[in-house]
Amino acid sequence: MIALEEAQRRLLALAKPVPAETIPLHAAAGRYAAADIVAQRTQPVRDLSAMDGFAVRFADGPGPWRLIGQSAAGAAFSGALEPGDTVRIFTGAALPQGADTVIMQEDMRAEGDIIHLSAPLDLVAGRHVRKAGEDFATGDLLVSAGEQLTPARIALAAMGGHGSVSVRRPIRVAILSTGDELVPLGAPVRDDQIPASNSVMLHALLSAPACVTTDHGIVRDDLATLTAVFTSLADADIIMSTGGASVGDHDHVKPALEGAGAQIDFWKIAMRPGKPLMAGQLGKALVLGLPGNPVSAFVTAILFAKPLIAALSGAPEPLPQRHKAILGSALPAVAKRTDHIRAILAEGRATPIGLNDSAALRALARANALIVRPADSPAAHAGDEVDIIKIA
Ligand code: AMP
Ligand code: MG
Repeated sequence: MIALEEAQRRLLALAKPVPAETIPLHAAAGRYAAADIVAQRTQPVRDLSAMDGFAVRFADGPGPWRLIGQSAAGAAFSGALEPGDTVRIFTGAALPQGADTVIMQEDMRAEGDIIHLSAPLDLVAGRHVRKAGEDFATGDLLVSAGEQLTPARIALAAMGGHGSVSVRRPIRVAILSTGDELVPLGAPVRDDQIPASNSVMLHALLSAPACVTTDHGIVRDDLATLTAVFTSLADADIIMSTGGASVGDHDHVKPALEGAGAQIDFWKIAMRPGKPLMAGQLGKALVLGLPGNPVSAFVTAILFAKPLIAALSGAPEPLPQRHKAILGSALPAVAKRTDHIRAILAEGRATPIGLNDSAALRALARANALIVRPADSPAAHAGDEVDIIKIA
């Protein structure tokens, strides 16, 4: 058995980022930048108005002003303000030469071409003006290599002058279930059978713009069959099986992988649930043998599979983010395996659901967080601070 952190470190050390490809920004949501995205322009490129109103010289004081023209977005005023002049201005329009301040139209009153304050107002120099370069300047780093392209980062790259970006190609994950008791979803289920729920769970958890999953069905607990299936999947980036990873007479994943030519890097982690997790390499593919129990498969996918996909995509910090929460009810001491307690997180308080069995899917489905309790932790009391990982 190896420690959870050691296993995660060893797995991520095997992950070399996949090649990059250049794609249009409109197709880039959720993908990982393969190179830094640098501003090719300055934004705003000139001082702009942030309001509909009147552009003035702050030095002129409280007016009145003489109206000499207007400046609209995309149609700037070409002249300059002399003392006492104002220009009608609209949101996003360039500030005319000489102007430094905008007064909102609600605060102004027009008498022909003479503009007055409609009531006394504390004028502030530079008010309602977006200064040139206040968002970014040419050459600024907008998105770092390895960051995921969120909607805001996509908009930022677009404003920075880009139409396409270099991203990591999607990670290809081949998923298979092992177990003679498994039946396809929706099919009749005998009393000695169960639906093969893990594959759809993994697909739902992992499939994303940055990751394409393919389902290779249910494989019988037969060494030769399993060996042949693993061999056939060696061109995936990740081969992910569930079940058959323990030491029972019907657990063939380890010998099948070895028979297919895989190197097993580690097996058996000091964690709960998920102890039988296995990781290795088969040709160019990385292999994750997840446990069969549905909650174990889920937790190991959160702690190993998702981070592995992020690492193959070049993410610098692929492990799930930990947060602090206040424990909602007491928990017993932890033995030699880091524990992951299904919990409901609300207003900073994480309350254990109670049923922690590694097959209890209803409890898992109610949970939105895992409380992480390191190996050898003493008993914890309600009100203690704990680490959590958000799962919904
Ligand atoms: P195993 O790791 O193969 O010993 O499986 C452990 C438990 O998980 C057994 O009760 C299996 O029936 C169950 N199990 C295995 N594979 C799946 C699956 N794909 N979906 C749901 N449960 C599974
Ligand atoms: Mg099995």
